[in-house]
Amino acid sequence: MSLRFNAINNLSTEPKDVVGSGTAKITAIFNENVFTQTVARQYLSDEAYKSLISSIKGGKKIERSVASQIANGLKAWAEEKGVTHFTHWFQPLTGTTAEKHDSFFTIKSDGTAIEEFDGAALIQQEPDASSFPSGGLRATFEARGYTAWDPSSPAFIMEIGQGKTLCIPTIFISYTGESLDYKAPLLKAVEAMNNAAVDVCHYFDKNVSKVTATLGWEQEYFIIDEGMANARPDLVQCGRTVFGASPAKGQQLEDHYFGSIPERSYAFMRDFETECYKLGIPLRTRHNEVAPAQFECAPIFEEVSVAVDHNALLMDIMERVARRHKLKVLMHEKPFAGINGSGKHNNWSMATDTGVNLLSPGKTPKTNLMFLTFFVNTIKAVHDYSDLLRASIASAGNDHRLGANEAPPAIISVFVGKYLAKVLSDIETRVGGKFDEQDEAILKLDIHRSIPELLLDNTDRNRTSPFAFTGNKFEFRAVGSSANCASPMTVLNVAMAQTLKTFKADVDSIITKGEKKEIAIMQVIQKYIVESKKVLFEGDGYSDAWHQEAAKRGLPNIPTTPLALDAMVTDKAKHLYESNKVYTHPELEARHEIELEKYIKKVQIEARIMGDLALNHIIPAAVKYQNKLLTNINGLKNAGLPESSYASQLDILTKVSQHIQSVYTKCDALVEARKVANAITDTREMAIAYCTTVKEAFFDDIRYSVDKLESLVDDEYWTLPKYREMLFLK
Ligand code: ADP
Ligand code: MG
Repeated sequence: MSLRFNAINNLSTEPKDVVGSGTAKITAIFNENVFTQTVARQYLSDEAYKSLISSIKGGKKIERSVASQIANGLKAWAEEKGVTHFTHWFQPLTGTTAEKHDSFFTIKSDGTAIEEFDGAALIQQEPDASSFPSGGLRATFEARGYTAWDPSSPAFIMEIGQGKTLCIPTIFISYTGESLDYKAPLLKAVEAMNNAAVDVCHYFDKNVSKVTATLGWEQEYFIIDEGMANARPDLVQCGRTVFGASPAKGQQLEDHYFGSIPERSYAFMRDFETECYKLGIPLRTRHNEVAPAQFECAPIFEEVSVAVDHNALLMDIMERVARRHKLKVLMHEKPFAGINGSGKHNNWSMATDTGVNLLSPGKTPKTNLMFLTFFVNTIKAVHDYSDLLRASIASAGNDHRLGANEAPPAIISVFVGKYLAKVLSDIETRVGGKFDEQDEAILKLDIHRSIPELLLDNTDRNRTSPFAFTGNKFEFRAVGSSANCASPMTVLNVAMAQTLKTFKADVDSIITKGEKKEIAIMQVIQKYIVESKKVLFEGDGYSDAWHQEAAKRGLPNIPTTPLALDAMVTDKAKHLYESNKVYTHPELEARHEIELEKYIKKVQIEARIMGDLALNHIIPAAVKYQNKLLTNINGLKNAGLPESSYASQLDILTKVSQHIQSVYTKCDALVEARKVANAITDTREMAIAYCTTVKEAFFDDIRYSVDKLESLVDDEYWTLPKYREMLFLK
């Protein structure tokens, strides 16, 4: 029996209510496995605790001797919880998380066995890094990199089966200091944003001494039965189905979105949520999504670097817990053609250490001017660096979403809602085109006072915008579901840093000429609105009209990854990153190279899988059916029946034969196209070849015939689970 029928059979014997462990009150388990500041207080000396806190709050370096004390405290806490191993936990550019477990256990020179965890082991480790992508950065030096403790993200205990491991969040860098992960550049970008934002905050409030970026992500995903997934080599290897005919019922009824969560999925959710709570991931919402078998979860927002860690952890935990439930989680942006893909909205804002959300309209004219300042600067940042934002979300998987009419387009635009659009255009068209003394009164009254009450009720929900203002935060909606949020967050924060720095300089130069501060600020805001208004769009982002309009406005629309990535290495990008100390030029070039390589590999694997499936599954099933038809036709013929009695069979036979030919010859040509692409030495050119001469030239065509065969061939012979089975059987 084929894996397909096995999976269908097993499904009916699968325990329907795999009870999750989620019975305890959330507050009783929340942070149970996290070395929080409260726990640190208990396990650390005064000196060690103070040092840790000032490192978390102010980024101060921790002395080696103090590090050893902290390591001891961490070890004592972890051992009480049954932990035997520790690992430096990091986020390499492969897109997953990485660990290398070491035990506390060690043998001293005199032969005594002890458990030990010293400061050196806490601060720095040297994983065997040669297999992580480095874009050639390490090749020129040594194939070595090291992980360095990031005290701003708390240590935690990961429970895997019976095993428990103390995980130390780290950044991953080369011996010569180049970043090799997602976290290091993010921390630098946030620091740049902090410095620039604090300076601007001082126009309004001298008490602000720190500005942090906040992030609340919304994770979409699919869940399907593990047996079904295992019977689909494409899902196993690429995370998406490269073939599959549309089911009679897709998502047109949208009944899944409004329906209750199916029992098996629900048990899984409760279970993974419990694991998340123990790790301090503040999950709050869970619900069905539009597509069948698609769901979403979202936490309460957190400081960006912690939120990034938590999302990476969540993805890891979900996969592990799913196995307990014999389920498979699909994080891919487009696991099933013809059905909505998955995204990961990044809700982003900035918060001061005085407790102010800088994108929340204030109650007084002064706080509203502050809101307006950060609001308009964000729009300007997105306008100026939209190409980099686009590049930050580019991936082979996300190419399937952006541009398809279900996700925001590859054109980066900003939606602000009717009310704020009016506010902006009012400011822009202020009589005389310039703010002066008389305007001060106007600005204090009508624009400012009216914002807060109206705003929250009036923010229209525009689901088609890639970057939407949603009342007190911006929502970057074009991020792919499998992405590491650090990529878009790094770009957004560094773009913000640069824009705010320029803003400060612009305002100061007007003040120097003797203008009042508020007037100077309004003048620059007005100037920025004029300069960046072409990125504002309130309409339907999915419509053709917008694509034409955007082209007229000169907004870039780059649908594919290899070309979208060009933005990473322009002079503008290099200047932005270097002047804000986020990436050096070699680091940027290396990242660009890594992203191109990732793209090439993804498409390469998909192309191979297509060939494998065609030859080992599709054509054999079709040939079997051909034979069955032939036997039937010959039998009827021999019985002396007229041709009209087997005309239909002949027709099917002809179609099946044609599609077999088509699949076979195209798969052959696909192999040739790959060979040609593989011979290209320039990585960018190779990626473009994979995109055009491999993917675009063949994938849809081959799929067309395969999907036709699926609908023609006897169901009994078909070995790959069908869409209707994967998506609807529960
Ligand atoms: P919706 O997208 O349906 O409006 P919410 O308004 O509840 O849902 O918010 C979605 C996400 O945005 C949540 O993760 C929430 O925590 C996050 N969020 C809310 N305020 C902020 C903020 N100031 N900064 C970053 N994220 C935020
Ligand atoms: Mg949302």
